[in-house]
Amino acid sequence: LWITLEGGDGSGKSTQAALLERWLVDEGRTVLRTREPGGSDVGVAIREIVLHHRGDIDPRAEALLYAADRAHHVATVVRPALERGEVVVQDRYLDSSVAYQGAGRVLDPTEIRELSLWATGSALPDLTVLLDIDEGAARRRLDTSRTRYDRLEAEKAEFHARVRSAFLDLAAAEPERFLVVDAAQQIDVIAETIRARVTTALG
Ligand code: C5P
Repeated sequence: LWITLEGGDGSGKSTQAALLERWLVDEGRTVLRTREPGGSDVGVAIREIVLHHRGDIDPRAEALLYAADRAHHVATVVRPALERGEVVVQDRYLDSSVAYQGAGRVLDPTEIRELSLWATGSALPDLTVLLDIDEGAARRRLDTSRTRYDRLEAEKAEFHARVRSAFLDLAAAEPERFLVVDAAQQIDVIAETIRARVTTALG
């Protein structure tokens, strides 16, 4: 079973991935917990490049680096684990690229998706948990109250709003694959919602 977690920065993906992993292990499953970018040896190097050059890298070059990371990660880490019968719990996958490199950086989301599918031989997870959070509004509230709200912050908020709405569109287009969870809820409430869906998926 292959589970991916998606959502904006600070939506609690890593926390939920850790809780899900612990629960699955308690249930007697062998779990591989991994992430993108940076879930393989090559990926660690690519992650450094994309995060270090964020903002000054050409958007298409950035999209290709994410796709390269993904290709190597699926081929050398994810697919072998799935073939061994393990449960893979993965922080971010191709939906992040469609949302960030597509809607966020304003490349064509369909092309970004095609690129990822080409990179991975069309590998798609069994379940994708979208942790939906309105970080833009949260940050805006925070910053206006501190009177630090300026144009740059407004642009950032707009970027995150585009990313969020792209994630929600993806979930609406594939309701069978996606579980959308309101990430503003309590951590344990979110964890329980995810566990219920994973239990069904495990059969
Ligand atoms: O998942 P994590 O928070 O470690 O991701 C690091 C950063 O990379 C995030 O801030 C996210 O905005 C960005 N990212 C991206 N495109 C992706 C995946 C992550 O811009 N496909």
